[in-house]
Amino acid sequence: MDVDFSNIKVVGFDADDTLWINETYFREAEERFAEFLEKFETKNKVDQELFKMEMKNLDIYGYGVKGFMLSMIESALELSNFTISQNTIAAILSLGKEMIEKPVELLPGVKEVLARLNDKYRLIVLTKGDLLDQERKLEKSGLSSYFHHVEVLSDKKENNYKNLLEHLEIELDEFLMIGNSLKSDVLPIINLGAKAVHVPFHTTWAHEELDRDVKLKNYLTLNGLSDILKYLN
Ligand SMILES: [Mg+2]
Repeated sequence: MDVDFSNIKVVGFDADDTLWINETYFREAEERFAEFLEKFETKNKVDQELFKMEMKNLDIYGYGVKGFMLSMIESALELSNFTISQNTIAAILSLGKEMIEKPVELLPGVKEVLARLNDKYRLIVLTKGDLLDQERKLEKSGLSSYFHHVEVLSDKKENNYKNLLEHLEIELDEFLMIGNSLKSDVLPIINLGAKAVHVPFHTTWAHEELDRDVKLKNYLTLNGLSDILKYLN
């Protein structure tokens, strides 16, 4: 589909799985977590119960590793019928800390794209998650200097975007959002009347999957972030 990018002045980037790898670390942690609980339940069941627990806790903990750690502990207690050992609880906490301490691995082309677009467009980061976690990743990424503004939102729904764009005095027809999640980075943006580019990552968290086949207009899917340079220059 052709999308007209000629008005674009501000480009918003999602961070996790758009600028750097994130979801892969959660999948790896889930593998380890299932191993901790293998004497109680199958991996499938552990995965399902952990996901349910995360969804139950999302409103109170928000997104990010810390909430994930607490949900792992709560799931471990329930799945083991409260017999989980203190050593396993300690291992779950270590697992979470290891996730927080992972190096930030940029996705292909990210630096080049930001360096190229930075001259002509105002670049901002719009991410959700834990504030400290995201600030730390941005710092480690070495990308901070490319961005005019970084916003860590508690969620990425239409209203979150609307309020932020108003606050930053960004016109809808001048804004393009780029991200890996149709649900969080594309759908709310095109519903508002702005433009979006979807750059899928190979792994998508179940919570970020769209519930149904939504026919979306006014957005473009690219194979990799570098392809955006064919449209914006
Ligand atoms: Mg993302």
